[in-house]
Parts: sequence; C-alpha cells; structure tokens
Amino acid sequence: MLRYQIIPVTPFQQNCTVFWNEETMKGAIVDPGGDLALLNKFIDENNIEIEKILVTHGHLDHAGSVAEMATQRGVPIIGPHKEDKFWIDGMPAAAQQYGFPEALAFEPDQWLENGDKVEAAGVSFDVVHCPGHTPGHVVFVQPEDKVAMVGDVIFKGSIGRTDFPKGDYQQLISSITDRLFSLDLDITFIPGHGPTSTLGFEKQTNPFVSDTALG
Ligand SMILES: [Zn+2]
Ligand SMILES: [Zn+2]
Repeated sequence: MLRYQIIPVTPFQQNCTVFWNEETMKGAIVDPGGDLALLNKFIDENNIEIEKILVTHGHLDHAGSVAEMATQRGVPIIGPHKEDKFWIDGMPAAAQQYGFPEALAFEPDQWLENGDKVEAAGVSFDVVHCPGHTPGHVVFVQPEDKVAMVGDVIFKGSIGRTDFPKGDYQQLISSITDRLFSLDLDITFIPGHGPTSTLGFEKQTNPFVSDTALG
C-alpha cells in the first residue's frame, strides 16, 4: 500500500510530498524545495528510507533543497526534463533575489522524457512531460493508486503561471487537456500549492481548462 504525506515548505508553501510503501518503508520524495530540517524530521521519525528524489521542475521553491538532500542521503536525483536546466542553474541567483536560504544548482542523475517510467517505493510512476509553466516540467502519475504529483501545471480551480521566461500559455493548456485529461479522470492530484483535487473535477469545473471554459 502506497502512503503519502504532503509537507508544505518554503515561504511559498510548496507541497513537497513524501511517499512510501507501508510494508518495506522504502520511499521517495517529490520536490524538496526547502525547510530540509522539517522534511528530515518527518522522514526519520517515521523510519522511511528515501531512495530517490523526484523533481517536477526547476523552480526554487520546488528544487531549492534537492542538492543538499541528495548529498545528505546519498540518493539519486530524477528529473525534471532537460529543458529546465536553465532554471536549475539559475537557482542560486533566484535564492538571493527572493531572500531564500542558499540553494545549490545540480545536475540530475537522470533527465526525464515524456513516457519514461520511474520506479520508487515499490511502484512505477509514469512520467508526463507538461511544458507551459516551465519548458521542462514533468508530472509523476501512479496509475494503480490513482495519484499524481503535478507541480505547478494545474491547481484546484486554477493553472500554473506562464509569464516566466519560456513560459507558454497555449502549451500549458495543451499539456493539461491533451496529456493530463486523457489519463484516468479518477486520479487525485497533488499540486505544487494548495489543496488536492481530481483530474475529473477540474475537467468539469476549472475556469481555465474545463470542457465548458474551452467550449
Ligand atoms: Zn513553478
Ligand atoms: Zn511552485
């Protein structure tokens, strides 16, 4: 049985997610953007063995503590897509700009492509490349447990910003409607910020990407 815990981190309240297998206690973490002490406390108090760090995209609040945690735990960094390299390389400067603690750039052990699979916590996650918010943004989908970590692609009632360098509104809409809405609509998604929702609920009600909104 896959378990997960959402732990909001950084002043941006980014939903870092720890997930693990209840029998083996092996797990992984998605987007450890900051507040490493808080994350380590949860992981260690629950005796979870983190095997991998998964990254949805290269924004500071999602990836700011990735390098430090990877070094501390000696685990590989998986993702995002290579198109986000410029964001990751820019994190040290972004940290200064936003008054965040020091954030180290890194080179992932594996860049991801659409259709890749990532084994973690004893299950397999499907990788969906969803550019638009950032060009290299990926989403992790676990089809059997019907849960997805979608970063800043879609939120409950909203979608990601596209006013950053290499952001693209139409591309983001296509990522959501062509790629995410073609998945099982019962899937619960954990967005990068705010409450969870399901793909089906957003397809019906989201003012940016619902069937009615898009006519
Ligand atoms: Zn973002
Ligand atoms: Zn974010």
